[in-house]
Amino acid sequence: MAFSDLRYCPRCAGRLEWRAFQYSDVHHPVCTNCGFILWQNPKPCVDALIIRGNGARVEVLLGRRLAEPYSGLWDIPGGFLNVGDHLEETLVRECKREMDIEVAVQELIGAFDDMFFDTQIVTLIFACKIVSGEPRAADIIDEVKWFSLFEPPPTTPVISQAIAKLNRHMTK
Ligand SMILES: [Zn+2]
Repeated sequence: MAFSDLRYCPRCAGRLEWRAFQYSDVHHPVCTNCGFILWQNPKPCVDALIIRGNGARVEVLLGRRLAEPYSGLWDIPGGFLNVGDHLEETLVRECKREMDIEVAVQELIGAFDDMFFDTQIVTLIFACKIVSGEPRAADIIDEVKWFSLFEPPPTTPVISQAIAKLNRHMTK
């Protein structure tokens, strides 16, 4: 989704006009005064699906959200990439912030389209393992718990997709 109500250039406050660039069906706001282009793109996020055990005893670590959207549903640690952030360090930072644990990042489970309120996002979900620390609820969650990969509680839609994908992968 693009913000079609953007009106002024963030650099010079000149008037913005939506224009096509390389392709006639793709438009971005451009400043009619200084030429600044305000590219409209989805925002990347990373999430950590923390796993332990193997075979029929694989468990995933979930945290119950206190914050909107999806308040009350089970979620996993993660967040937006800020300018200068890299994937792995962001995952490590968010796991520390939200569950007070150190993790090692393993393979990519998948990339998922999602929305965060009005903002279109792309979430990259990685499998992670705990390296040190005992998980506890910090930041935006009020409870942390291990669940069987095969019987997860109600989670946010994208986390449900990731758990189902990991489940298929594990039982193949
Ligand atoms: Zn401008």
